[in-house]
Amino acid sequence: MISVNNEQQVQAGPLTQMGLFDHEQVVFCNDNATGLRAIIAVHNTTLGPALGGTRMWPYATEAEALTDVLRLSRGMTYKAAVAGLNLGGGKAVIIGDSRKDKSEALMRRFGKFVDNLGGKYITAEDVGIGTRDMEYVHMETKHVTGIPPALGGSGDPSPVTAFGVYMGMKASAAERWGNDSLSGKKIAVQGVGNVGSHLVEHLVKEGAKVFITDIYEDRVAMVKKKHPAVEVVAGDKLLGLDIDIYAPCALGATVNDESLSELKCAIICGAANNQLADEVKHGKIVMEKGILYAPDYVVNAGGLINVYSEVAGFGTDYAMKQAENVYVTTAGIFALAKKENIPTYMAANKIAEKRIAAVAHIRTRR
Ligand code: NAD
Repeated sequence: MISVNNEQQVQAGPLTQMGLFDHEQVVFCNDNATGLRAIIAVHNTTLGPALGGTRMWPYATEAEALTDVLRLSRGMTYKAAVAGLNLGGGKAVIIGDSRKDKSEALMRRFGKFVDNLGGKYITAEDVGIGTRDMEYVHMETKHVTGIPPALGGSGDPSPVTAFGVYMGMKASAAERWGNDSLSGKKIAVQGVGNVGSHLVEHLVKEGAKVFITDIYEDRVAMVKKKHPAVEVVAGDKLLGLDIDIYAPCALGATVNDESLSELKCAIICGAANNQLADEVKHGKIVMEKGILYAPDYVVNAGGLINVYSEVAGFGTDYAMKQAENVYVTTAGIFALAKKENIPTYMAANKIAEKRIAAVAHIRTRR
């Protein structure tokens, strides 16, 4: 994966930025009547249609929105490639405040733009967009996934995501301790929302000593009530804990200069996207500190696997089986990282690029 610095992106025009990230197509969408201002980015369709959610966010500038959609769509290409899915990478952003600016008309107009791409891009939910919004999009295009089960969709992907993270954690334990049992391991789960709470369930069942933290007391109370054995810790105490595994399941960029100076753990493995604040810098520091990092987009692929099984018409059993494969995929990444003495994030990127190149080669043959 090429490394591009932020300034370079903001100063460069849209086409130059597309070149830096190697994007295939970017569509700018405007509709004055509904107030829709959106960007759809198709990064790479070598493996299949570009799938990725639509994010609604009040970006301060258009350049910020463009940078976000380019980064996110490229990330989806790598996630799908490593997970072995026949999907490319795409993403969309709608510029606006999801609490104030959303309407049926805006979402349906957006759906028409998605439809115009003829299936090259398949959309889904992301930050600021809910199932109801996707129902509106679905009224204008069939190229949408993550819709409610009542409409034939696969519903909440979180249980599948949590199961994949659990599998990745077991593979990490096997790599670090020669045994994949998590029984007795001290594991801190930061963020017990949709994914975190399901992850806690697997960990408690296996006999791990689980610590939880969340900014919302009701979330913590709910999980504590269901699993009385978990220990609740204040957010600012988490980094000082003497733990075996840190599982970031809240926001991104929690593996940074500050946290790495305090964090005492053998493994980092969680659901949050973009855990390394700076992939190159912090990926290297983590490696030098002897912490085993399970690349985020590898272990949290369950959500994408779930929507893929919806698009492909496979169903939940298939999704769970595929999420189980996260174990083998994660182990393969550790093996490559060890063989080449490179950070694990880099090994994951290499495996993604290798699969894309191999499939591209096949496509040129009869
Ligand atoms: P969620 O919003 O349901 O849960 C996140 C939880 O983290 C919330 O309970 C929130 O209160 C808590 N939180 C926020 N900031 C915190 C902080 N500083 N300290 C402690 N807790 C904090 O989201 P989710 O669906 O569970 O997703 C969790 C993460 O996993 C996100 O980064 C998401 O992008 C990623 N992810 C989710 C899926 C999925 O299937 N839902 C798939 C792939 C990746």
